[in-house]
Amino acid sequence: MDFELSEEIKAIQEMARKFTQNEITPRVAEDEENHTFQRDIINKMGELGFFGCPIPEEYGGSNLGFLAHTVVTEEISRVSGSLRAAFNMQTMGTAREVFQFGTDEQKKKYIPKLVSAEHLGCIGITEANAGSDVSSMKTRAVKKGNKYILTGSKNWITYAQVADVGVIYAYTDPTKKYKGMSGFIVDMHSRGVSTGPTATKMGWNACPTGELFFDDVEVPEENLLGGEEGRGFECVMSGLNNTRLTAAAGAVGVSHGLIDEAKKYANEREQFGRPIGKFQMVQEELARMIVETEAARLMVYKCAVQKDAGNHGNVLETVMAKYYSCDVASRVADGALRILGAYGYSSEYPVERLFREAKLYQILEGSANIQKMIIATDALGYRKANR
Ligand SMILES: Cc1cc2nc3c(=O)[nH]c(=O)nc-3n(C[C@H](O)[C@H](O)[C@H](O)COP(=O)(O)OP(=O)(O)OC[C@H]3O[C@@H](n4cnc5c(N)ncnc54)[C@H](O)[C@@H]3O)c2cc1C
Repeated sequence: MDFELSEEIKAIQEMARKFTQNEITPRVAEDEENHTFQRDIINKMGELGFFGCPIPEEYGGSNLGFLAHTVVTEEISRVSGSLRAAFNMQTMGTAREVFQFGTDEQKKKYIPKLVSAEHLGCIGITEANAGSDVSSMKTRAVKKGNKYILTGSKNWITYAQVADVGVIYAYTDPTKKYKGMSGFIVDMHSRGVSTGPTATKMGWNACPTGELFFDDVEVPEENLLGGEEGRGFECVMSGLNNTRLTAAAGAVGVSHGLIDEAKKYANEREQFGRPIGKFQMVQEELARMIVETEAARLMVYKCAVQKDAGNHGNVLETVMAKYYSCDVASRVADGALRILGAYGYSSEYPVERLFREAKLYQILEGSANIQKMIIATDALGYRKANR
């Protein structure tokens, strides 16, 4: 077991850290406040190869792997949850999904443009009445000649208003339940695709989220993911095993960002004639935040290393890392708020924004309860998590 990052990963980590300091930190608060979608920053991240780590070179990636992806995601999330989302929209939920399940033609056509950010991606699973229970989705795709006709709607879709291409899940045969679901690569500029207003949210405001409507949208049969009907549920679950890693890395990143702010403040703020960092109760809070974040990081890195070693069925480890790191992010946010006192509650300091960003991780990519359910049902022998 080697706990050192390789020189290559350290180099991309350093690049991401500098990029964050120079390009994101100076404007993140204003962009969040104004709900400005940061397309220009996403373009630059694409140019720097941030979205291509777990993608082979022949499709425009760097093949640096899942650990590199995790480390870069963590750096960006340290200052921006909205930009962290791009790692699932451009990489894990789209490019990597097409890489794992797509046909050769689909891989060649779609992956390079997602990795470079020339195209923005989105993932369409959730619907108004299908959240944790993915199988209750209602969107239908009916084959007509050499096309599928897509009808239905999706809810809470990140990049709904800006995406060029979507990996959208629908039932091709609802009578077969899980085995009747299929994935489609949809051109989001097709006739019949429309979006609702941007959702108003607690945070992540520089990242648009909303509803998608499919009104008799014609999808060419060659855009059926993998060229085979009935594999949609398998694709969703396998995709979640990747997107959960990115979410977990994001949770570690936001925890790190909150610790950065809490440390700075504890050294600056004086009460009773000395910096508050000198008080043992403040130290205890900070120590807990640091240790829990480090434990979460190790769990997240373990999953990434397993995937780099070819173990893509590591559902249990991924779910545990996602559950733990996301819960830790909320506890760390709470600790940072306590250390900053009134200024933690003020939007003049980043803690107030990072606190709001941290909360989302307990919901996204499967709620905390769903992660716990998978862990416990595996432990009790009801359903094996790993494949
Ligand atoms: C900002 C944002 C961006 C998003 N982006 C996307 C996206 O790009 N694409 C996409 O497809 N989706 C997206 N989502 C949706 C997200 O994946 C869902 O919100 C999530 O899966 C949970 O579904 P839900 O919110 O409907 O909660 P529900 O399923 O309604 O759950 C509500 C509560 O009930 C609990 N619960 C439900 N079932 C069980 C159970 N069996 N046992 C115990 N507890 C249970 C849950 O844990 C939760 O606490 C996004 C959501 C948000 C907020």
